[in-house]
Amino acid sequence: MADVVVVGSANVDLVLPVQRIPRPGETVLASGLSRGPGGKGANQAVAAARAGASTAFVASLGADESGELLRTALTESGVDLSLVSTTSTPTGTAIITVAADGENSIVVAPSANAELALSAEALSAIRSAKVVLAQLEIPFPTVQAAAEASSYFVLNAAPAAELSDELLAQVDLLVVNETEAEAVGGLLLDRVPAAVITLGAEGAVILTRGAAEVRVPGVPVEVVDTTAAGDTFCGVLAATLAAASTSSANTGSVTVGDLTNAVRRANVAASLSVKTAGAIPSVPHGENIDARAA
Ligand code: ATP
Repeated sequence: MADVVVVGSANVDLVLPVQRIPRPGETVLASGLSRGPGGKGANQAVAAARAGASTAFVASLGADESGELLRTALTESGVDLSLVSTTSTPTGTAIITVAADGENSIVVAPSANAELALSAEALSAIRSAKVVLAQLEIPFPTVQAAAEASSYFVLNAAPAAELSDELLAQVDLLVVNETEAEAVGGLLLDRVPAAVITLGAEGAVILTRGAAEVRVPGVPVEVVDTTAAGDTFCGVLAATLAAASTSSANTGSVTVGDLTNAVRRANVAASLSVKTAGAIPSVPHGENIDARAA
């Protein structure tokens, strides 16, 4: 049984480098086209596995070449794919334009991801995992069902969405960037017991009910491509929490110290990911994270 179960999306990313993002009605020419594995769920599962956690992925892929591309990339990173289902709907696809100044715009066709539901086997793996990690590129009822079955549920509320009290009642740790934090609505600690807000180059801040706010400063690096920085952060955070102690995540009572250590490691890992282009290719391995953190 895996310590970390990631429930989420898998997409093939079509990346188009452009001088600038087209305005409405405008056509621009790209200087190239690359195709690679991505999707928040897949990126986070790879990040957790590379960080050293036994990791299973619950996802829905099409029976197509894109699905094979994802399977190969995930397997190579050591992710357990026995809970991945295959459907006749095509694999999810993201069209990503990246401008010369690093700005990007993304359109996602969820396709097979929209069909993700939890099998009995997936539910059983979720129940016995130390940490379950999900995002919002899959149907809400699936996220809700995963949350209800988890002993420690981490929600990366991305893409930005307003969230129901019913879902947030099941969340042990919310991870959001600043835009997503605003979209969630209300004061975060009124709605979840703990939250991490990522601040890009500035690092992250940890909010925990009943404890002082903890700031983890960013690690200065030369930025090449921030794609999957947030996903690397979430995957490494989940992996490190799962390893933190034999029992804490399983009982739903992670200490502020465990959380702070995990955020520090996630922050180092995410900073390493921005030094390399691409989504999955940029996700660091545990030895590189820990060499940098030491
Ligand atoms: P993205 O959408 O680019 O994947 P995000 O918007 O979800 O990211 P951010 O807050 O921008 O999330 O970044 C997540 C984490 O990545 C940060 O907390 C930090 O650890 C790291 N990071 C991002 N940008 C930089 C940077 N320029 N320098 C160093 N670390 C960075």
